[in-house]
Parts: sequence; C-alpha cells; structure tokens
Amino acid sequence: MFSVSRREEGERATVIGARIVAAKNAGADSRPFLFRGWHGACSVGLGAEGVCMTSLAKLEHSKKRAGQLALVVGVLLFAGKFSAYALTGSTALFADAMESTVNIIAAGMMVIALALAARPPDEHHPYGHGKVEFFSAGIEGAAIAAAALMILAEGIRDLVQGPALQRLGLGMGILAGCTVANAALGAFLTREGRRTRSMALAADGRHVLTDVWTSAGVIGGLLVVHLTGWVWADPLIAIAVAINVVREGVALLREAYAGLMDHADPETLEFAAEVLRTERRDSWIDVHGLRSWSSGARRHFDLHLTVPRFFDVEHLHRIHDRVETKLFQGDLQGGDVVVHFDPCEVDHCARCSMADCSIREAPFREALPMVREHITRSDELAFVFPAFQGSVAGSKSEEA
Ligand SMILES: [Zn+2]
Ligand SMILES: [Zn+2]
Ligand SMILES: [Zn+2]
Ligand SMILES: [Zn+2]
Repeated sequence: MFSVSRREEGERATVIGARIVAAKNAGADSRPFLFRGWHGACSVGLGAEGVCMTSLAKLEHSKKRAGQLALVVGVLLFAGKFSAYALTGSTALFADAMESTVNIIAAGMMVIALALAARPPDEHHPYGHGKVEFFSAGIEGAAIAAAALMILAEGIRDLVQGPALQRLGLGMGILAGCTVANAALGAFLTREGRRTRSMALAADGRHVLTDVWTSAGVIGGLLVVHLTGWVWADPLIAIAVAINVVREGVALLREAYAGLMDHADPETLEFAAEVLRTERRDSWIDVHGLRSWSSGARRHFDLHLTVPRFFDVEHLHRIHDRVETKLFQGDLQGGDVVVHFDPCEVDHCARCSMADCSIREAPFREALPMVREHITRSDELAFVFPAFQGSVAGSKSEEA
C-alpha cells in the first residue's frame, strides 16, 4: 500500500513522496501502514517479524532496567552522602549530596521518559514518543541549575560565618565508598546507552561519571583540610562544585535544545551519504534536500531524488524501498524514509550516466557528487543556476 499524488506545475510534473514501508508486509496486514511501519525496517533486515519484535522488546527492557537501577543507586548514594554531611558539617559534602539529588531527579525523569519513549506510534503521536527523551533532558538541566544555586548559597554563607567541621575522616570514608559505587554505575549506564542507542541513558552515564570526578575533588580538598587544618578550603570546594554543576546543566540544556530543534547531525547525514553513495544506480542523477531528525532511537530521513522523467510509479516504488531498506539495514529501531522524486530536465543530460536513455539530448560528462555537502543542499536548481544556492544544512550550521 502506498500513496502518490501528482502535481502539475507548468510543463513539469512532480511525483511527490511515496511513503512506503516494508514491501514484504504489504497486503498481509489490515492495520494502517503507519502502525505496521513501527518495526518495518527490521522485518526486512531480519526476516521473520517475530524475531524482530523479540529483539526490540529485549532492547527496551534493558533500557528500562538500567534506568531503574540508576534511580535506586541514586537514592542510596544520596542517603550516604547526606549522612556524611550531617556527621561532619562540611559544606563540600553538602554540595556533593545536593548534586546527588540532581541524579535522582535525572534518573526518575529517565525512567518515565524511557517508558513513554518505548511506546509505539499511536493515533495521536504518529511519529512515536521518542522526543520525550529530549524533553526530560531539558527538565534535568533546569533542576541542575536549582541545585547549583543552593550549593552556592551554602558556600557563601559558610565563607561569611566561618566553617565548623568535625569527624572529617569518617565523612571522607563514606564519600569514598559512594564514589566507587557511582563509578561502577556510570560505566554501566554509558555502555548500555551506547548499546541501546538511548540518548537518555548515555547522557545519564556521562553525568554520573562527571560526578565521580567531582567527588574525587571533594575528597582531595577535605584531605587538605584534614592534614593542614585550613578549614576555608571547605566552602571554596563547595563553590567549585557549584560551578561544575552549572556547567553540567548548560550542557544538558544545549543537548535538549539540539534534539527538540532537529539540528542537522553531521554524523547521521554522513552515514546516509555513505549509504546512498554505495547503493547509487546510473538512474540516480542527483540527490538534494537530504534531511534527518531523530525521535528517541528512531531516525527519520527525507530526500529528493532526481530520476529520468519517464520512470513509472512501480519503478519509483522499487527505488524508494531500496533506499529505505539500505538506510535501516541491521537497525532494530528503524524509522521512516520519505523520497520525493524529481523528473530530470534537459540540463541533467550531461550529469546522467544512464546508458540506454531514449530522451538524451547531450552526452554524459560527469556525475554529480554523492557527498554530504552536495546532497544536503536545499534546492535542485542550485547546480543549474549557481546564484540560486540555498542553505547547506549540516555543513555550515554545526554549532548547535
Ligand atoms: Zn508500496
Ligand atoms: Zn550528578
Ligand atoms: Zn501517544
Ligand atoms: Zn527536488
């Protein structure tokens, strides 16, 4: 099943995006094609639909389990660090404990986000629910900023009133134990995040690993206080921790912004260019307008493909299926591809290497390059009228 609409524009007819999912499934299923597309890519890549569902469910399960583990460990570590603060009265330990509340909020948001993100597309959210991961990263960023303010206030108050410390050795011992546990958790989350391609898990893992260094710094500072008796180091360490926490928050907010705004991810676009370069046929005269966005672990691509103008719908359908299959080969979580086909014009003859073309008006000179900078440009007219050059997504705007 697929939909194609025709639009007449002067002498030019354009076949607009045939949005096609796994041809294998076509007809065998009465559900609307959108919902069948949820795991369309892997049913092509792996064969039996049952196999793919099981692997996908396994991935989702390990993501959720990792999130829950982060939450439980986060609560335990906060309890440990806060009792270390209560025992010693150290502002540096207070700062580290406050930073831990951020981890609890983060892990809680992540558990909710992962549960929501794993839901298949539905009537109300036909693109799926993956974007909620970016949303949770944004809320985390705001929570981190609040924690930083509390630490700063405590540090300044201590600088004014003068710190009073006791039982420092015990406090440092407790924090050291917490830090070892945190390092193990961070390594686990980072690995799981990479394996399941979950931005939320990977970001949380990186965050936890940063905290390990923060705690190491706190222990080092307290050791100085312990050995030299210079108590002013304590609030100063706390303020340093606060500054680091602000940095964490800003990084998270930037990441959330990039994801929600569908920034042009150079890595993904480079990957798509590579696939198109390898799969290119003589009839693929030009690709332009390649864009990609992500919703959780699902990727979406759309692109324009210029082909000989006498190709029929069946032929275009085959090309579309080929592009889709290759873009998602071996990718369990899949996504959608929309190819908008453009009919060739006289100017394309010199750029078209089709051997048996019946409408050729000029000899072939040189094929257009299938590289990211070229195929992400926004308009097909750019090479005919160089002055018409549109913005080049992903190559000029990489700052986001
Ligand atoms: Zn079809
Ligand atoms: Zn943290
Ligand atoms: Zn929904
Ligand atoms: Zn076009």
